[in-house]
Amino acid sequence: MIQQVTKVFRDVWGYDQFRPLQEDSIRCVLDKQDSLTVLPTGGGKSLCFQAPALCCDGMAVVVSPLISLMKDQVDALQACGVAAEFANSTQTADEKRRVAERIRAGEIKLLYMAPERLLSPRTLDFLQSNHVSFFAIDEAHCISAWGHDFRPEYRGLRTLKELFPSASVHAYTATAAEDVRNDIAQQLGLSGAKILVGDFDRPNLNYRMLRSDGRLQQVMEVIGRHPGESGIVYCISRKEVERTANAINAVGGRATGSRALAYHAGLDDHQRKSNQNAFIKDECDVIVATVAFGMGIDKPDVRYVVHAGMPKSIEHYQQESGRAGRDGLESECVLIYSGGDVVTWKRIMEGGGSNNAAIASLDAMANLCGSVVCRHKALVEYFGQKYEHQNCGSCDVCLGELDLVDDPITLSQKILSCVIRQGERFGSAHTAKVLAGSKDQRIHQFGHDKLSTYGLLADEGQASARMWIDQLVAQGYLLRSGEYHLLSLSETGRRLLKRDGDPKLTKPTSKSSR
Ligand code: ADP
Ligand code: ZN
Repeated sequence: MIQQVTKVFRDVWGYDQFRPLQEDSIRCVLDKQDSLTVLPTGGGKSLCFQAPALCCDGMAVVVSPLISLMKDQVDALQACGVAAEFANSTQTADEKRRVAERIRAGEIKLLYMAPERLLSPRTLDFLQSNHVSFFAIDEAHCISAWGHDFRPEYRGLRTLKELFPSASVHAYTATAAEDVRNDIAQQLGLSGAKILVGDFDRPNLNYRMLRSDGRLQQVMEVIGRHPGESGIVYCISRKEVERTANAINAVGGRATGSRALAYHAGLDDHQRKSNQNAFIKDECDVIVATVAFGMGIDKPDVRYVVHAGMPKSIEHYQQESGRAGRDGLESECVLIYSGGDVVTWKRIMEGGGSNNAAIASLDAMANLCGSVVCRHKALVEYFGQKYEHQNCGSCDVCLGELDLVDDPITLSQKILSCVIRQGERFGSAHTAKVLAGSKDQRIHQFGHDKLSTYGLLADEGQASARMWIDQLVAQGYLLRSGEYHLLSLSETGRRLLKRDGDPKLTKPTSKSSR
């Protein structure tokens, strides 16, 4: 059977080799063994179910969360001559009837649907009387409340295992955090599923995370390094998108000849599509976008991705920055962040009634930005994998580009001592206040203004103290535990008190010392 898939790979898509894990993942489908495939964005997940679907008897049902994504995929498949269709609310009654007839005639190999449509009693009934070969659950992290994109409709997919005992279920996601991974398998009721996890490192990407210091200028510098090359600039809000695109065209247009177009949900469909196509066809160099841009976009030669504001989770960062360098050539990812971005996101999230998991994801992103750990290592480990290299040679930390304090050990000792003096029973905010010598009522109440560490960092200020605490946590000298994130010293933290260790702390910027 696998030979047949190899042939389909070549004949339909023109590919003569499998990407890592594609073959294993495809074998699960052919063997009807339930599976979860975790590959980073661009890893080639779609072909893991599309190609075997053409070789199996019956029709594969693909669950996808977004109508736009569905349509793009089906269009692409039809363009390759594959019998694929979708069923969704944008269709007229006639179109729906036509698709249903083709399914009954056994003409369709891949049917795309959103979960709410699939799970309607009528659809389930209809599918049960037709031959479903397997279910492919795309963007499967949507089923997990631990993930960054929870969609309650996905929860109902659990019934598929019961209603279709002879069809296997295969899930696909780019979110590899181990708790999410296990939750997906459990929520789908996949017992004994094969879990395949790909390599998350993208060695051809150079990562830089810069504290915001004249954002637009920082963005222009990156663009200026890539004249005539394709790049994406992500902004948090539509307004920022417009402002940035205009600025690039005004300033950049003269300096680098780069032409920018905007992309966000506020533009009408036609405009959005046309801007996206212009980017794909190299008619513009830069696309300035909100997170709305990118799902299903596959442009191999994107040479840089700039985040002009902090993304709202590490998962988003991985996906968005991952759109650079799909062709495997060296590419640059620059993230510009400020404490204000966290506040902006929290405001947006509160409007949307967001949960604690979303806030935790946001905090994890902010911590990663402020940390002084190899970016490749931090990203890979966040996604639950080990990173073996000591120095990646391709991130701001390993390249020594960060502005570090001269005597980090002494500075760390001040912070660690403070945590100890407080009995290791307080969180970061409180500790930063004590170190900065805050007159806060609570500090007084606990008698912490009497500690010898009170005010030790009065010159540097509370924001800097807070930043260094985060950096010590990221480097494992401090631990944050329990519901209240209380700080305590790790084993390496205790050794650091005896000057044994190699912490790295960044110099405060003018902004953080205020
Ligand atoms: P994902 O869904 O994991 O983000 P896609 O399935 O969209 O990734 O694949 C990304 C790109 O890689 C697509 O253009 C796809 O056609 C291409 N691709 C997938 N598998 C292969 C392969 N074995 N060889 C070459 N290109 C591939
Ligand atoms: Zn590195």
